[in-house]
Amino acid sequence: MRYAVISDVHSNLEALRAVLADIKANSVKEILFTGDAVGYGPDPNECLKIIEAGCSVLIAGNHDWAAISLTDITFFNRAAQSAMMWTMKTLTKENLQTLSKFKMTEVVLEKNLFLVHSTPREPQRWFYLQPYRDAAANFEYFDEKICFLGHSHIPFIVERNLKGEVAVYNDEIKITKGARYIVNVGSVGQPRDGDPRACYCIFDEGLISFRRVAYEISKTQEKMRRCGLPIHLIERLAYGV
Ligand code: ZN
Repeated sequence: MRYAVISDVHSNLEALRAVLADIKANSVKEILFTGDAVGYGPDPNECLKIIEAGCSVLIAGNHDWAAISLTDITFFNRAAQSAMMWTMKTLTKENLQTLSKFKMTEVVLEKNLFLVHSTPREPQRWFYLQPYRDAAANFEYFDEKICFLGHSHIPFIVERNLKGEVAVYNDEIKITKGARYIVNVGSVGQPRDGDPRACYCIFDEGLISFRRVAYEISKTQEKMRRCGLPIHLIERLAYGV
């Protein structure tokens, strides 16, 4: 059975549609979402509807919480703040209600998977989990075999083997018996690892792998211009930074 994990869509409808088409072509059974449906991009309502309808688990990201005033956006940088103000006034009442149902963490698949947006240790403080610095400590804060998360928009896999040794990978790996994993699934709507293509993760019993999917970036950028979203947010999509 194959599962897809998607994260950090950030109101980018073109990227989301391209990823869903790729997921469909990969005979995936279920899609899990690890947060940040909205913020930054031009289509928050459309993206939320699709995510709610298509994903079996819905985790809240910091932008999702900001949109329903559960996170203080004075901690956001100026472009993110300005995009969030636009998002808050654009979201429908119904979609604001949908966001309030998103969970902070969730355990799925007979307790083998743990899902969170930022870190298992302090989910509501929205820290970025640095694979080399923070992963070892974070393994103590969930019991499942694999933790999927997002937030930094940079994909990686941390493996902790039976001896407690930790290794970091940027590409696909075979799942080893006894080992545990923390996987950042990357970002659908605003990748930041230098590759502008949408990113998501597929896993089955034997393998964790990343998929990169090209989409019509210029179309999203044009919509963002029309919505008056910050130029910095528009330009970065072309570079994946
Ligand atoms: Zn994000």
